[in-house]
Amino acid sequence: MAVQPPQTVRDLRRANRGVLLRRLWFHGPLARQDLINETRLSPGAVSTVTGELIEDGLLVEAGTLGSEGGRPRVLLRVDPGARQVVGVDIGETRVRVELFDLDLTERARVEVPLTPGQHDPAATLAALAEGLAVVSAQATAPLLGLGIGVPGVVEHGAETLVHGQTTGWRAVPLVRLIGEFTELPVLIDNGATTMGQAELWFGAGRGARTAVIALLGSGVGAALVLDGAPYRGVGGSAGEWGHTTVQAGGRACRCGSSGCLEAYVGAGALVDRYRELGGLEPAVGEEAALAAMLDDPAAPAARKTLDEAAEYLGIGLGNLINLVNPELIVLGGWAGLLLGAEMLPRIREAAARHALRHPFSQARIVLGELGSDAVARGAATLWVERFLSGGGVG
Ligand SMILES: [Zn+2]
Repeated sequence: MAVQPPQTVRDLRRANRGVLLRRLWFHGPLARQDLINETRLSPGAVSTVTGELIEDGLLVEAGTLGSEGGRPRVLLRVDPGARQVVGVDIGETRVRVELFDLDLTERARVEVPLTPGQHDPAATLAALAEGLAVVSAQATAPLLGLGIGVPGVVEHGAETLVHGQTTGWRAVPLVRLIGEFTELPVLIDNGATTMGQAELWFGAGRGARTAVIALLGSGVGAALVLDGAPYRGVGGSAGEWGHTTVQAGGRACRCGSSGCLEAYVGAGALVDRYRELGGLEPAVGEEAALAAMLDDPAAPAARKTLDEAAEYLGIGLGNLINLVNPELIVLGGWAGLLLGAEMLPRIREAAARHALRHPFSQARIVLGELGSDAVARGAATLWVERFLSGGGVG
């Protein structure tokens, strides 16, 4: 067992503030007596620390609860307006920038489109700067920071670097580059991971201990949650589900390999296949093309594309079920939500054919509940989590 360093009184105070803030954020409003019963803090500590947090403007009273025969109990909750946070979803076709309250209620949103097929970091950063200027002008409380979900592997070393093999990003020092146009502190994670975090806290994944949150957009990825904790792997790239091979000698993938899942179920791959089968005029964007396909699913090109997509997605999900034995798979990402809304039963049926019966019977496959802003909301949770755990200091 690791030996814990000795705690100073200040550490202890911060830890106690963190325990109460987290409890109230997730389960509030609660009375002081609930906090005593539900944490290991003494009545004296609860009284002192809640007093401090109220004085700091982080907790507010939220009515009273009548108690039998005794005094009514005052309920407390975290003040959602005490701080705000900016969450960003860097996608391949657009950058979405959102302003949230401390309880992650959305207050403002801007979407800046990117030129299709061009993933130059400078263009992405310009779009981010534009969106950030608009939403931060609408902030009504101190901002905790900027949380960003990116398509690619995030390496948290001496410097945070983003590697996007499919977008041509090679060790892009994103935090440093963002520091050139904002003083806000920045936290970055992979977009599938931040989406997974949001679905776990607020969406379809609530309460799950072992789950996979699968993201289908232009790219394909997954967030793995094993025994209640995110699993990132040795270098942060765990969950690159889109680049697992589903067809030997198959279609060329943007990563340079062939036969990857993304080359069959990524939005770009679906649209390419649809066009190849004579489905539509080439100028339409990915999202519009996918929507058109789903509008007329009986047309031959659409039917064939969607049949193949369900089969390959079933193969991918079956592999996840056999490897991870999850209790839950959440299908999200804008393309995943579009496809799933139309054909989740078919996708489940294909997964059943490609997974072992026993683990398949234990895995629920459901659609994400948070819609397409789950990546940005999850990126904002990076700061909220840090703020709560740190006792609301800063
Ligand atoms: Zn690939």
